[in-house]
Amino acid sequence: MSKQIKDLNPALIWKFFYDLTQIPRPSKKEGEAVEYVKKFGEDRNLETIVDKAGNVIIKKPATPGMENRKVLLLQGHLDIVPQKNSDKVHDFEKDPVETVIDGEWVRANGTTLGADNGIGVAAALAVLDSDDLVHGPLEALFTIDEESGMTGAFGLEKGVLNADIMLNMDSEDEGELYVGCAGGLDANISYSYQEVPVPAGYSAFIIKISGLKGGHSGLDIVLGRGNANKLLFRIIKHAVKELDAAISHVDGGGLRNAIPRESEAHLVIPGGREDDLISAVNRLERIFKNELFAVEPDLNISIEKRNAPTSMIDPETSRRLINGIIACPNGVMRMSNSMQGLVETSTNLASVNTGKGEATIKCLMRSSVDSSRDELAGMMESLFSLAGADINFSGAYPGWKPDMDSEILQVMRNVYNELYGKIPEIKAIHAGLECGLIGGAYPKLDMISFGPTIRYPHSPDEKVHIESVEKFWVFLVETLKNIPVKQ
Ligand SMILES: [Zn+2]
Repeated sequence: MSKQIKDLNPALIWKFFYDLTQIPRPSKKEGEAVEYVKKFGEDRNLETIVDKAGNVIIKKPATPGMENRKVLLLQGHLDIVPQKNSDKVHDFEKDPVETVIDGEWVRANGTTLGADNGIGVAAALAVLDSDDLVHGPLEALFTIDEESGMTGAFGLEKGVLNADIMLNMDSEDEGELYVGCAGGLDANISYSYQEVPVPAGYSAFIIKISGLKGGHSGLDIVLGRGNANKLLFRIIKHAVKELDAAISHVDGGGLRNAIPRESEAHLVIPGGREDDLISAVNRLERIFKNELFAVEPDLNISIEKRNAPTSMIDPETSRRLINGIIACPNGVMRMSNSMQGLVETSTNLASVNTGKGEATIKCLMRSSVDSSRDELAGMMESLFSLAGADINFSGAYPGWKPDMDSEILQVMRNVYNELYGKIPEIKAIHAGLECGLIGGAYPKLDMISFGPTIRYPHSPDEKVHIESVEKFWVFLVETLKNIPVKQ
């Protein structure tokens, strides 16, 4: 069954893709794939390097008459996301992926297919293998671990590559050219607090925010969805300031890269003010629903009485924590001036948790402009210093700022237009791509990301559109011929 994909056209790219499906290669366990690509290069007497990070680099000289062209780097990642249906027996570290031709698509049988990024890798191998294509000097970079930390791209060393232009082949819509992505930075904020006894005669309530849509903190931030932590702290601020409530415990949000959908607080309040709190929560729920009616129709806020806990956060720290979160920036900070509709800079107030004398807040900031990301970090640092918190930053990676005057962009627009009679869509993404990191190590690289049409990547429904693979390949081959002369 699986071998049928070798009969598809263009034969060379499908042959290499078939080979890749036979090699187990989940993220961080790409060893066999690294060996395969290394052997591929060595068997063809091409300069082949495995770098310290585990990436494979292969260099191929220009074909006759093309020696004066700019050096072109073809790039893809070797690893795949190992996802399978619950009823499927499959060991991603041992078993080959079974492929199925399903109408216009190729998919796997109950697992991820690995067309993300197996088709991109296969295309680079096909170009390196061919002896009938016309191209200038080539380099190929096969990275590891794109899907679970980008450690390959992070570890890419300076001075190994000579490329002037890079084609990343890890995009998922044929007919689109990507020219930018966001970098990121994590903010880690903490407050130490005293657990003080709850005064006698206090009542306790759990207030819960739920029903929000959440979503990806980069791709979905432009939608203006509700942030459960921000909404919760508007209630908390009112309750503490106006009704003398105090915070016993907060648990809001989850993953740093997810817009928080749910959040809850345990509040205590002097006896006799219970009804005021309940009516304040109901009133604020109406206000939030009014603000978010178009994007969050299922927003729900519940308040429930519970047994009073024995301790609460000391009032002084509680006041500083509330001020910090209320003032903390969240959502879109700036839209791009070079590309309409693209978020340039954003931040997600992802989680707030208290316990054992410490309140921790996690945010993820993104920007395609590194200095803007750093300015936002400076804003956060000033704010949380004023609010008496500790703040540090980690996990920085660079963005890729769209350059609408890019030479390779002009070349590929024209090539695509000549081939298919239309201008490809030019796009950028407000999330991380390897291009940001690679461009960080090689700042002069002129980069484009493109690829065939892939649907439902990272899931057992992943599939690649057969005809789009051919269009992608023809486009790549034609682009090779048109790489500009190096001045
Ligand atoms: Zn990918």
